[in-house]
Amino acid sequence: MSDTTSSNQLLSPTDSRRPSRRNFLRGSAVAVAGVVTAGLAVETSRSFVDPYSVLAQSTLTPEAALKELMDGNGRFVSGKTTAPEHDVASLRRQLEEKQEPFAAVLSCADSRVPVEIVFDQTFGQLFVTRVAGNIITPEIIGSLEYGVAVLGTKVILVLGHSNCGAVKAAVAGKSVPGQISVLYSHIQPAVDEAGHDYKAVTKANAKIQAKLLSQASTVIAEKIKEGQLKVVAGYYDIGSGVVTLLT
Ligand SMILES: [Zn+2]
Repeated sequence: MSDTTSSNQLLSPTDSRRPSRRNFLRGSAVAVAGVVTAGLAVETSRSFVDPYSVLAQSTLTPEAALKELMDGNGRFVSGKTTAPEHDVASLRRQLEEKQEPFAAVLSCADSRVPVEIVFDQTFGQLFVTRVAGNIITPEIIGSLEYGVAVLGTKVILVLGHSNCGAVKAAVAGKSVPGQISVLYSHIQPAVDEAGHDYKAVTKANAKIQAKLLSQASTVIAEKIKEGQLKVVAGYYDIGSGVVTLLT
């Protein structure tokens, strides 16, 4: 198992190759016209007061969507975030009737993984599903299918994280109260693969869940085949704030 260093780690915040967030968003907004997805007609023209609305149902590629996600994590890690600059009142008004998040994230429910903050995003940009252990369940699949087929998200990131309680509990396999142990069976394949190393199990689990999602959903599998969607796995380090893509 090896990690692929994320693009945000390769480019410094001041690197001239790094496209500005404003330009990225402008490009997305310009490209929105006339898209119909899953029978849902999308407005063909719309005037945006705030250029910060990322519109997934545009010509944005899965690769560009993933890059924006990772660039956002780079901004978060470097402390050069732009999300706080948004006029949230304006965004709320713009998004009242419609959303077009450019990326979906399946993360753990852990309070130390605030997804929008970790990726320096704001309202309307991320479609987030959360469940302890970031596992694929029928409800999670259905939610992500909605994000892809109806909302037009271009990338799905399955995000594990350091010191995950669900992973530790699954590795320990001890009796726990209530229905907590229902999580174990989902994480067990990663335990079987990676043993008792929490970090290795967490990474294996993110990859296994991403693969499962790619294969279990015909909607998602078809979009991947058409080149309209990427499903990737990642690992969030709570201490450093860095998200690393897993291959
Ligand atoms: Zn967790």
